[in-house]
Amino acid sequence: MASHIVGYPRMGPKRELKFALESFWDKKSSAEDLQKVAADLRSAIWKQMADAGIKYIPSNTFSYYDQVLDATSMLGAVPPRYGWNGGEIRFDTYFSMARGNASVPAMEMTKWFDTNYHFIVPELGPDVNFSYASHKAVDEYKEAKSLGVDTVPVLVGPVSYLLLSKPAKGVEKTFSLLSLLPKILPIYKEVILELKAAGASWIQFDEPTLVLDLDSHQLQAFTAAYADLESALSGLNVLIETYFADLTTEAYKTLVGLKGVTAYGLDLVRGTQTIDLVKAGFPEGKYLFAGVVDGRNIWANDIASSLSTLQQLEDIVGKDKLVVSTSCSLLHTAVDLVNETKLDDEIKSWLAFAAQKVVEVNALAKALAGQKDEAFFAANAAAQASRKSSPRVTNEAVQKAAAALKGSDHRRATNVSARLDAQQKKLNLPVLPTTTIGSFPQTLELRRVRREFKANKISEDNYIKAIKEEIKKVVDLQEELDIDVLVHGEPERNDMVEYFGEQLSGFAFTVNGWVQSYGSRCVKPPIIYGDVSRPKPMTVFWSSTAQSMTQRPMKGMLTGPVTILNWSFVRNDQPRFETCYQIALAIKDEVEDLEKAGINVIQIDEAALREGLPLRKSEHAFYLKWAVHSFRITNCGVQDTTQIHTHMCYSNFNDIIHSIIDMDADVITIENSRSDEKLLSVFREGVKYGAGIGPGVYDIHSPRIPSTEEIADRINKMLAVLETNILWVNPDCGLKTRKYAEVKPALNNMVAAAKLLRTQL
Ligand code: GLN
Ligand code: ZN
Repeated sequence: MASHIVGYPRMGPKRELKFALESFWDKKSSAEDLQKVAADLRSAIWKQMADAGIKYIPSNTFSYYDQVLDATSMLGAVPPRYGWNGGEIRFDTYFSMARGNASVPAMEMTKWFDTNYHFIVPELGPDVNFSYASHKAVDEYKEAKSLGVDTVPVLVGPVSYLLLSKPAKGVEKTFSLLSLLPKILPIYKEVILELKAAGASWIQFDEPTLVLDLDSHQLQAFTAAYADLESALSGLNVLIETYFADLTTEAYKTLVGLKGVTAYGLDLVRGTQTIDLVKAGFPEGKYLFAGVVDGRNIWANDIASSLSTLQQLEDIVGKDKLVVSTSCSLLHTAVDLVNETKLDDEIKSWLAFAAQKVVEVNALAKALAGQKDEAFFAANAAAQASRKSSPRVTNEAVQKAAAALKGSDHRRATNVSARLDAQQKKLNLPVLPTTTIGSFPQTLELRRVRREFKANKISEDNYIKAIKEEIKKVVDLQEELDIDVLVHGEPERNDMVEYFGEQLSGFAFTVNGWVQSYGSRCVKPPIIYGDVSRPKPMTVFWSSTAQSMTQRPMKGMLTGPVTILNWSFVRNDQPRFETCYQIALAIKDEVEDLEKAGINVIQIDEAALREGLPLRKSEHAFYLKWAVHSFRITNCGVQDTTQIHTHMCYSNFNDIIHSIIDMDADVITIENSRSDEKLLSVFREGVKYGAGIGPGVYDIHSPRIPSTEEIADRINKMLAVLETNILWVNPDCGLKTRKYAEVKPALNNMVAAAKLLRTQL
C-alpha cells in the first residue's frame, strides 16, 4: 500500500528560506549562499519523507517565491517590461517579476483559492512568445535522484495555469486565455520528455481549478489538453491532483475521462461529497490518491476514522490502486511540531504539523497493508479521546449561550438614519468628518518595550507607563492635526488577531507555526482549540485611558469575529460558524463594556470577511449569512447613540454588497486605492445604504505623501456619487507600517483637504 504527499512547505522549520531570501535581496549574501540554503532544505525534506517511508515523494514543490511564477518562468511568459532577452531565467528576472525593481513594479499577486497563500498572476496576451526558459522541474528531479530519492515531479497543470492567469493590458475584454493552450502545450511536452529522459516514472499535474464552478468550455479544455499531451506522456504514470473542495459531477466525469491519465488525487477533507463521487463510479485500473490527511489545518488526523474511509475506498478501487495522501499540499500548514517549546503536552498531542502529517500518511498506508503500528494508533486514539473530553475544550456556559442565539436575527432596534441622527447630537461632528483606521506607526522602541514586557524584562508598571506615553503622543498629534474622531494608535498590539486571541480562552499560540503567505512573508495563525470566552475586558483600560486624554471622541478598536476566525487555525470538531458565534459573543461583551466605560464610537474591524468566501458560489449565501450575523451579534445591544464603525481592507464589493449593507454598521471605512468610481457606484446602486462611508482617500501601502490638492480631488470625485452628509475622510488602512515622517504630512494634507472642501459645500 502506497503513500504520497501532494507538496511540502518550503520555508523550513525555522523560516530558513525567508532569512536567506531577505539577506540575498538586501545584498548581504550571494546567490550561491541562497542556493545552498535552498538545496539543504530540499534535501532535508526529501530525506525526511523517504525515511518516513513515503513512496511518492514530490519534487519541484520547492520555490524561491511561488510555484505559479515558476510555471511562468518555465513557459518563458515574462511580461516585456522586465526586459528579459531569452535564455534560462535567472534570479534577477525572476525576482523582478515577483517583487518589482527600481524601474518596474512587481506583477500582480492574488490569493491562491481560499487559502492565505498568494501567487503571482501570469499576464498573458496574444503575442506572448512561449519558450522553455526554466529547467527547474527537471533540475530538481535530478537533484533528488542524485541524493538517492526517486521523486514525482510536480507541475502546475496547463489548464489551471491559464485559468489562473489574467489577460495582459489592452486585451482585457477581448482575449480568451484558454486560446493559448496550443501554444503552451509544446513547452509542457519538452519538459515531460526531459523528465522521462532523466528517469521519471511518475508525473503530477496540479489542476486545482477543477474544483471551481466551471462551464463546459472550460471543462472541455482539460479534455483537449491531456489528449494533446497523451503521446508525450506515454510511458509515464500521470497523476492529476485536485484539492480544496470536491468536484462537481461534470468535473469529476471530465477528470476520470482524461486521456493518458492513470491517477486522480482527490481532497477527502474539504471535499465532503468526494467519496460519493467515487462510489458512483471509478474507472477500472486507475489509481485513487485519497487525500485524507488535512493539509489546511494543524490537527492530528483521526487515523482510525481515516482508515475506515480508506477501507471503503479500497473496496471500490482495488487494493493495489489506492494511495494514501494529503488533502492538498502541506504548504498551508505549519512545518514541524518538534520546534514548539511553549505548547503544553496535552495540546501538543492533539496537533500535527507538516512533518507529523507525513508520518500519519505513512502509518495509514502501512495499516492498510496489514502492518498496523499498534502503538501509533493507540497514541492517536488516546489523543483524539483526550481532545473530545478535555475540560479545556468544552465550556458548558459558552455552548449554551451560543445555542441560545438560534432563531434570533440580532439587529439594532432603530434604523441606521435614526441612529446616525442620535449619534450626531452627541458627537457633533463637522461634515466630512476625519478619522484614521486605528494603528499609528510602530517604532523599533515600541516593539522593544512590548517584547521586553512579554519576556518579563520590564515590570508591568513600566510597561503601562511606556504605552500610556505612546498613546498620549498619538492623541496629541491627532489634536494638533485637528482630526475629528481619534484613535489610541494600538501601540499595545503586535497583531490585530493575536492581541485578542491571547486574551480569550480557547486559543493557543505557537513559536514557530509559520505558514507562507507570499514570497518570504509568513503568518503565524493562532490555534482555536476550545470554546471561546472572554475572561475579562481586553481593551477597556487602554481605550478609556485614551479617552481621558481628550475631549474629542475616541474610537474603541476591536477585531471582529469573522476576521479572528478567518486568520486562525480553526477547530475541526464543530462547524466554523459555531466557533464564529462564540467569538462574536466574546466581542459583544467587550463592545458593551466599552460603551459602559463611556466610549461612544467603536470600530469592529472585519478585514478578512471577504476572504472567507467559499470557493463554490452555491456556498456563498450560507457563509455570508452566518458571517454577517456574527458581526451583528457583537453590537446589536448598544444604544442608538453609540456609533459602530467597521473597516475592511478591500473594495471589491460587487458580489457581496447586500451582505455589507446587512452588517448594519453606522459607518464603514474601506480600502479604495484602486477603483474609486467603480466602488462608489456599487454603493450607489445598492439598496439605499444610508450609513456613513469612508473610502480611503490615500494609499497607506506606499511611502508616498499625497498632496492636499490630490486628496481634495479624490474627495470631490466621491462627492459626485455619494451624499455629502454620509462621506467620511480617512486613509485606506492602519498606519502601523508607515513612518511618522510620512504619516504626519499625509494626515495634515488629508485634514486640509477636508477643511477646504467644507468651505466649498
Ligand atoms: N485597526 C487596524 C489597524 O489600523 C486595522 C488593520 C487592518 O485592517 N488590516 O491597524
Ligand atoms: Zn485595512
